[in-house]
Amino acid sequence: MIPYQFQLRTAVHVGANKSAEVGEIVASRTTAKKAIIVSDAFLVKSGLTQPIEKSLIDKGYEVHIFDNVQSNPTMAEIDEVAQMIRDTNSDVVLGVGGGSPLDVAKTAAMVAGGEDSVSNYALGANPFPEKKVNVVGIPTTAGTGAEVTSTVIFSDEKHRKLWGWDALMAPEIAILDPSLTVKLPPHLTAATGLDAIVHAIEAATSQNTNPFIQGMAMQAIRLLSNDLPIALEKPENLQARENLLVGAALAGVAIEHGGTGLAHNIGHALSTVDGLHHGRAVAIALYHIYDYNLDSDYETVFADIARALGAKDTLVNENELAREGARLYRALVDSSPLALKLDGVERDRYHTEVLISTLSSENSPMRKNNCRIPTDVEMEQLVMKLTS
Ligand SMILES: [Zn+2]
Repeated sequence: MIPYQFQLRTAVHVGANKSAEVGEIVASRTTAKKAIIVSDAFLVKSGLTQPIEKSLIDKGYEVHIFDNVQSNPTMAEIDEVAQMIRDTNSDVVLGVGGGSPLDVAKTAAMVAGGEDSVSNYALGANPFPEKKVNVVGIPTTAGTGAEVTSTVIFSDEKHRKLWGWDALMAPEIAILDPSLTVKLPPHLTAATGLDAIVHAIEAATSQNTNPFIQGMAMQAIRLLSNDLPIALEKPENLQARENLLVGAALAGVAIEHGGTGLAHNIGHALSTVDGLHHGRAVAIALYHIYDYNLDSDYETVFADIARALGAKDTLVNENELAREGARLYRALVDSSPLALKLDGVERDRYHTEVLISTLSSENSPMRKNNCRIPTDVEMEQLVMKLTS
């Protein structure tokens, strides 16, 4: 048995229209007086950030807005927000949106503690300066779990994917408000929801797994797999939307401690090479490697995952149950509007080689964290399966 510790950093507030109470929530937990809302132009124009801004102003906060986060945030955006925090002397930063605005808010809050650019801290080159401001994560998609995690992803000017990490990076407060996610279109509801399920499955079966992680992950899988079809059929169903948000946050806590695995390794390469949405890429990857993963020492965990995915109690054999889990996962993907086929992609020998070289160079820690660690030959076979 390997010793471990498990710690939660983020106070999570859940409920419909909770984001409109953000002023009171922040006031009850911090002494902050000046706030910056970090979001994207679409969300600000659509009026989604308005109740949040109003709630803060009503509580006497001075509020500034940065509405220029792009879908793959750059170091320039993070530096701009960090400078805004310094210039305005803000003491609370609210990330409102998908994973990108949350990551920009989280990272800029750290960077603002010093004078240097975020480039100084990328890939763990130097420790971040002391964190001086509080961060509130308000997700508008149910997927990344960025509102509870300590790792952030951003790009340099050459579109190279970089990461940042700090033990204090995770937001101090997360607000899970299902009324913010009801307008999410079906293909994004599916891609983000499936991403969260993959987080939970990969963390529970990771080399770092432990009973705390599995507890979070199993409940995440239960909520997400049960409520994703409901939210797809009835997008305005607040209970289903709330369950997806809670499931994604639980899965976020699970990957915070367990990390991701091979589906994320392959998924990242698919996103880099073919431009696939992250959630769609990892959902497709797990669809094709689930059976491969079953042949590992994690049969009991995979049997539990199957139960969480809704497998019937009549299956008593662990091995049968584990295999039923693979079937149920694939059925969930098949019933969603997520497109499995990589349309428009030239799937030839060259494409396979580019994928393999990308995933070997970029993300080998995920490969080594997988329940079954593939050899180079197995890796090639898995990628061929995926692209054939
Ligand atoms: Zn993911």
